[in-house]
Amino acid sequence: LSERLSGVFDRLTKQGALSEDDVATALREVRVALLEADVSLPVARDFVKAVQDKATGQAVTKSVTPGQQVVKIVHDALIDVLRGEGDPGHLKIDNPPAPILMVGLQGSGKTTTTAKLAKRMKDREGKRVLMASLDTNRPAAMEQLAILGAQIGVDTLPIVKGEDPVAIAKRAKTQASLGGYDVYMLDTAGRLHIDQELIAQAAAVRDVANPRETLLVVDGLTGQDAVNVATEFDDKIGVTGVVLTRMDGDGRGGAALSMRAVTGKPIRFVGLGEKMDAIETFEPERIAGRILGMGDIVALVEKAQETIEAEQAEKMMKRMMKGQFNMNDLRMQLEQMQKMGGMEGMMSMMPGMGKMAKQVEEAGFDDKILARQIALIQSMTKKERAAPQILQASRKKRIAAGAGMDVSDLNKLLKMHRQMGDMMKKMGKMGKGGMLKQAMK
Ligand code: GDP
Ligand code: MG
Repeated sequence: LSERLSGVFDRLTKQGALSEDDVATALREVRVALLEADVSLPVARDFVKAVQDKATGQAVTKSVTPGQQVVKIVHDALIDVLRGEGDPGHLKIDNPPAPILMVGLQGSGKTTTTAKLAKRMKDREGKRVLMASLDTNRPAAMEQLAILGAQIGVDTLPIVKGEDPVAIAKRAKTQASLGGYDVYMLDTAGRLHIDQELIAQAAAVRDVANPRETLLVVDGLTGQDAVNVATEFDDKIGVTGVVLTRMDGDGRGGAALSMRAVTGKPIRFVGLGEKMDAIETFEPERIAGRILGMGDIVALVEKAQETIEAEQAEKMMKRMMKGQFNMNDLRMQLEQMQKMGGMEGMMSMMPGMGKMAKQVEEAGFDDKILARQIALIQSMTKKERAAPQILQASRKKRIAAGAGMDVSDLNKLLKMHRQMGDMMKKMGKMGKGGMLKQAMK
């Protein structure tokens, strides 16, 4: 596939902005890639359409082809779709004992995932977890959970013969309260296919337990089916998240995209093997790369973009060393800092900058106010940004008010700007091989 793609990309013409043709040509291949990754047809179609509208007219980064640029845009759009709201790895388990309901088809990995998550909560958060198997169809399933529990040091609800799932759920709830557990997990039975009895049973358990989280466990290797399963479970039972198992296999994981697009439910975890530690918080970047299967191209475009940013930064540095350091430069600097993980991240990358870091810190400058500093600069006029020395009291008042801050905040920013400017000038005078030049390398 990659070869086919690069062929297409070579044929695309090089130009400043993406034309409709460029985008359409590249997206045809992207669509094939999505389908090969098991993304369902309607989802692939909608997705490609959305990207088409977004990509046309976008600038092409220097030294990459339009086709490569489209791939990068697709990659970023995939991440956007895959990323749910909030932190996927954070299970709502306040107000102990918090019930977690595990649902899904038989063999999807419910029991394994139940134990993996229990272990994770125990190891990472020190939670006391109780696991209960509601799988009355298969006695072996209850044993399986008990064995896993013993293995990971997590309690399981004692097995009582002849009980139905609702009764087990009730008993688990009581036991969890009395036993002082933080969490109790209900591992339900599955079927090979969705049927009314399965759904009815899961719904009855849900009504008894009133779960804080209902996690749907889905085999990541199943393609289109996964979407139907997810839709059905969500409609009838209501799920708060999806766990994709068997992502250690060679499937490309297109089900993830289909499921996100169709159900809108966040993917929370991925299962990466049979071992009890083989579970990870869902990372949209990783799955996006896998679905698209064009990681090389994405990396290439990212590299090209970085190079251009570096060139811009170098130009700015040169001007700064000549003492031409205005508010636009400062803003760019601040935005750069935000990207690089704040002040600390940035300073740690620049040799010889320790002293400056300290001064900036003393000026009351921490990462949280980066955004506010930028807002202040944004509320200046073009003229003011180019020549901040023209700011007198009335202008200052207007700018501060515009950014929803005090004049004293603005004064701090101006002071910092002056100090940085002075320092830049001094460093510039140190001439060739000075520390700023070194730092830029
Ligand atoms: P359940 O019927 O939904 O409870 O499924 P099980 O938890 O019993 O899992 C069925 C099989 O899949 C077991 O052999 C598990 O070891 C295996 N399994 C579960 N999760 C994963 C995973 O993430 N990767 C791999 N390779 N195997 C898994
Ligand atoms: Mg099971």
